[in-house]
Amino acid sequence: MVDWHKISLDKIAKELEVPDGYIKVSAPLEHDNIVNGDGLRAVLWTQGCPNHCLGCQNPETWDYDGGSLRKIDDIKKELASFRGQAGLTFCGGEPFVQPKACKEIADFVRKELGWNVWSFSGFTHEIITEHGGNALDFLKSLDALIDGPFILSQRDLSLRFRGSKNQRLLRLEYGTGKILTIE
Ligand code: SF4
Repeated sequence: MVDWHKISLDKIAKELEVPDGYIKVSAPLEHDNIVNGDGLRAVLWTQGCPNHCLGCQNPETWDYDGGSLRKIDDIKKELASFRGQAGLTFCGGEPFVQPKACKEIADFVRKELGWNVWSFSGFTHEIITEHGGNALDFLKSLDALIDGPFILSQRDLSLRFRGSKNQRLLRLEYGTGKILTIE
């Protein structure tokens, strides 16, 4: 029998290698986005995803060798130039395969811009917590996580911020990553 839990743990361990001070992105930064979290939001689209969900809307973001490298300092400057944003959302690709870079940016927008921070992940909260390490450190810097892979047979277009019924909107306790509420 296939052990999906072990497969997920192996996949999250395969971090994308980027030089210190850089992050790999799949698209330009967005602002004033209203479909990836509460309020007006900046969105950072990361490159690289090991999950390969059937029906994924962004398969061009899977390739670890694709996308483009950007300096984290330049990302911070651009984010600081956006006005009237409630927060930043990390979308993919899979943000948790670049957890160190994502955490540095998350900490910057929280401390310097006063924004909240959300992330999508094809991994569940349980997998990220069990895996620990850099992925868990990034989780602890979030206010909300939308978790789980996209499952085509469970697709539901009426769900807020989610594509399939298995995915959850988890409000988290900042600093611990503990789940406060589940939608
Ligand atoms: S986790 Fe997200 S980006 Fe990755 S394959 Fe699934 S839907 Fe696509």
